[in-house]
Amino acid sequence: MSGSSVKVAVRVRPFNPRENALGDKCILKMDGYKTTITNPADGSTKDFTFDYSFWSHDGYIEEPNGYLKADPGHMGCQYNDQSFVYNVLGEEVLNNAWDGFHTCLFAYGQTGSGKSYSMIGYGENKGIVPQSTNEIFNRINNSTDDNKKYQVKCSMVEIYNEKVQDLLVLPKDRVQSGLKIREDKKRGVYIQGVTEIPVGSYSEIDKVMQKGNENRSVGAHKLNQNSSRAHTVISIDFKTVDTATKTERLSVINLVDLAGSEKTEKAGTTGDRLKEGCAINKSLSTLGQVIKVLADKSSGKGKKQIVPYRNSALTRILQNALGGNSKTMMICALSPAGDNYDETLSTLRYADRAK
Ligand code: ADP
Repeated sequence: MSGSSVKVAVRVRPFNPRENALGDKCILKMDGYKTTITNPADGSTKDFTFDYSFWSHDGYIEEPNGYLKADPGHMGCQYNDQSFVYNVLGEEVLNNAWDGFHTCLFAYGQTGSGKSYSMIGYGENKGIVPQSTNEIFNRINNSTDDNKKYQVKCSMVEIYNEKVQDLLVLPKDRVQSGLKIREDKKRGVYIQGVTEIPVGSYSEIDKVMQKGNENRSVGAHKLNQNSSRAHTVISIDFKTVDTATKTERLSVINLVDLAGSEKTEKAGTTGDRLKEGCAINKSLSTLGQVIKVLADKSSGKGKKQIVPYRNSALTRILQNALGGNSKTMMICALSPAGDNYDETLSTLRYADRAK
């Protein structure tokens, strides 16, 4: 990766059954790096450009009024599949690790837009996380450098209402107040007492992640029954030990499935759910600010700006991996349907600010 240390991808999912039943119109169009969104109320358009664009919706045909309509005869573009997305983003994550950089890869978007599909995947359609972890062990097993030894450890936490919880511990055995975030000179910022499991093969890490996934908080949410209202952070410590020079190097890979970015009113939220929504919005806006300040600093602008890591638990625990020797990537998941215009525009704006 060269140039800016933040890379932003956008991915459009197909219509879901509800959008199909509504006979909804597609409001997005991709052309190379350009994504265009049409306002269904007045037909006005806005253009955005990103480092990568992935189109997983059916083909579209342009109507005389400027709207786009899904073309039932065109079953999606050839670049829609999980292995293509992995080849573009996952490979870069691995290359960073081998080159000694820390990486954060975030999936951002409203609930139901395809974040989990891109990160974890469903069934046979494995997402970036399982494909990357599989490839880590392929690369290790195929390494021809006898002086290099690799050690891999993983942990998995979720942040819910600003509290950090260990996903590798059963909910009943957790400290209710959450894990403490600490900082010292040697380790930088770390989560005190978090479970870190050494893993030696893909099947081992896959088992750990399945366990973590089963322990995720799932809330009954109007938009999506299984929606997670928490941020999920998978951290993989990748250590390379050079036995000839007796040196070691640590690269941390953080794979983050963010909580849904939707505004709380749309989901019909009150009480606890509203509090939850405020915490989510705060951490997502802090993340956006942190990425923006870091990008400005790396481009020479605003060198003296303070990076507001401390304003949210999410940015605090990722502090080591966001600044300094690190690369940041974001995949923003988009619904193609007119019904989601406001949320999709807000995701595009967030993605645009992160660049
Ligand atoms: P989120 O994690 O953002 O709440 P999901 O990843 O669960 O959303 O996606 C919602 C639904 O859309 C799922 O049924 C998923 O299988 C489907 N989906 C999402 N993205 C894609 C895609 N790129 N291709 C095919 N189906 C997708």
